[in-house]
Amino acid sequence: MSNLTVHPGNPEPQLGPFDVIVIGAGSVGAPLAWQLAEAGLRTLVIDRFASVGQGSNKTAIGGIRATHSEPAKIRICLKSIEIFSTWHERYGDDMRWVQGGYAFVAYREREEQLLKDLLSVQKQHGLDIDWYDGEALREIIPVLNPEGLIGGTFSPGDGSASSLLSALAFERQAKARGAVFHYNETVIDILKHGDVVQGVRTDKASHHAGVVVNAAGPWAREVAALAGVEVPVQPDSHEAGITEPMAPFLQPMVVDIRPVAGSANYYFYQHHTGQIIFCITPYPPIVGLDRRETSVFLPQVAQRMIGIMPRLKNLKVRRTWRGLYPMTPDGAPIVGEVQGLRGYINAVGMCGQGYMLGPGLAVYLRQLITGKVDQETREILDQLSLYREFGGAEALR
Ligand SMILES: Cc1cc2nc3c(=O)[nH]c(=O)nc-3n(C[C@H](O)[C@H](O)[C@H](O)COP(=O)(O)OP(=O)(O)OC[C@H]3O[C@@H](n4cnc5c(N)ncnc54)[C@H](O)[C@@H]3O)c2cc1C
Repeated sequence: MSNLTVHPGNPEPQLGPFDVIVIGAGSVGAPLAWQLAEAGLRTLVIDRFASVGQGSNKTAIGGIRATHSEPAKIRICLKSIEIFSTWHERYGDDMRWVQGGYAFVAYREREEQLLKDLLSVQKQHGLDIDWYDGEALREIIPVLNPEGLIGGTFSPGDGSASSLLSALAFERQAKARGAVFHYNETVIDILKHGDVVQGVRTDKASHHAGVVVNAAGPWAREVAALAGVEVPVQPDSHEAGITEPMAPFLQPMVVDIRPVAGSANYYFYQHHTGQIIFCITPYPPIVGLDRRETSVFLPQVAQRMIGIMPRLKNLKVRRTWRGLYPMTPDGAPIVGEVQGLRGYINAVGMCGQGYMLGPGLAVYLRQLITGKVDQETREILDQLSLYREFGGAEALR
């Protein structure tokens, strides 16, 4: 059971105008502010950039899937999909949610086996997913190269949305419920009294609250260190690109997890405005904060994409960009309280899935912070604990 409980509107002890401070207005911090403000907590979000979502969030290509191998991530993302898919109806903001599904393709027996092996855990946790042999998969994606195609999984409930429009929508709804956002302000210290967190010091002021959430993305390790906490989060860089538009021909996100020299996997989909958006996972990883584009990316990813979808070969690329994954050793986030420091919470290490995890995670973090942790949340927090064994590696990173 959490020892954090904050009573909305009546924090104990009274430290100032805020109950909770969230460091980072990104994929995690923005929806968290919405959830906390909705719970009646006086929430301050601080970000060093000039507006919402300007860290890793805006570099995400918008993929949202519950197709994972780890139960905690499946459950969090099912919650996220519930939020994304009903947002427009509930709040009126258009996040450009499109439920096009996800297809993980197999051109080798190794990937066929891996994808088939995951089906039971995925279905057990409520994911709508099935295996399709090559011919059946080509009914869903007719433009897939049939040569060597064994088949793949398809999960129709997954989809995509705009990471910037989402961040703006979360911020808008958080503000409407009283949350305050400070931009162009950098947290430089986490204030403590003994083993209790008291707030943060920034380059502009000190702010007090009984709960401080580290949602600092690729910079989470440095922010945790301000509280004397060590988290194994290391940024690595990934490039993405967008083409000129084409008439609609592709609904799902296509993911090829076959490792080849230079890259571990890649994924792409057709945006509702016609462009193909794509991204690759370099292997070995390019560790660090470098966000300059490279000359390696386009030839590497183009060859792979054309290999499974020859129709893309004459398409012109309009723009590329590079962003950061906040990576953990096993590919799963690190979420929850830490031993020996009351009031500090990690919401870090989102790897390549922080955009899709953010809204669902916010619902579970709200439970933790308000002290209303149910069985499902407890199980999720246990799986994402800082104190777990980091030995394994997630199959669908
Ligand atoms: C090319 C690419 C494609 C991707 N595609 C997808 C995708 O399709 N789907 C998906 O789910 N994910 C995707 N991702 C991953 C996703 O972008 C990240 O996992 C996610 O944005 C991380 O969210 P976050 O909130 O942890 O970090 P961020 O969004 O980076 O937010 C952290 C914030 O903390 C702030 N901050 C840090 N330190 C301080 C400080 N000391 N003081 C004040 N503020 C501070 C930063 O300014 C930043 O705004 C992609 C990433 C890349 C690079």
